[in-house]
Amino acid sequence: MQYKNFEEYNIEVTEEVKDKFKSIISGIGEDLDRDGIVKTPERAAKAMLFLTQGYHQDPAEILKGAMFKEDYDDMVIVKDIELYSLCEHHMLPFFGKAHIAYIPNGHIVGLSKLPRIVDVFSRRLQVQERLTHDILECINDTLKPKGVAVVIEASHMCMMMRGVQKQNSVTTTSGFRGQFEKIETRTEFLRLITADLG
Ligand SMILES: [Zn+2]
Repeated sequence: MQYKNFEEYNIEVTEEVKDKFKSIISGIGEDLDRDGIVKTPERAAKAMLFLTQGYHQDPAEILKGAMFKEDYDDMVIVKDIELYSLCEHHMLPFFGKAHIAYIPNGHIVGLSKLPRIVDVFSRRLQVQERLTHDILECINDTLKPKGVAVVIEASHMCMMMRGVQKQNSVTTTSGFRGQFEKIETRTEFLRLITADLG
């Protein structure tokens, strides 16, 4: 299944969001007719729709489309997956890295699909905790591995730019299923994602 590039924006939705951005921009005291601002409502609407396109994508389908029978049953790790999302409380970005591991149970999945599902779940309004579990449960339910682990480290603009203004704080969330619930497997995974393998 091919996913529509969201450059093909839904005209009606874009127009509606654009009008709302006009209200926001004039509401904060800006001049909608100023040169640099004239096209901003439309650009902001398209950016917002791009950043939330995950609502229209099915991550389980993405995984199912690239599952292969394979006897390999050691840990598979994809680490340092770039992640950009929007917090659902302030609609401000949070961004960082996701690390995913799973232990196959008869099937492996195309490695590029793990970053894809990180994108799909990230491009929705999120909290980091739910994002972590969305990714974890999607892999667990679809691939049915012997174990799955997800760790996300992220910085939140709503903390950095406003509120407590803790500019260097990083929030870490994690979730473990199956064999990763055993301390030895989990420790091995955490050692591997923090190791510099050069
Ligand atoms: Zn926030």
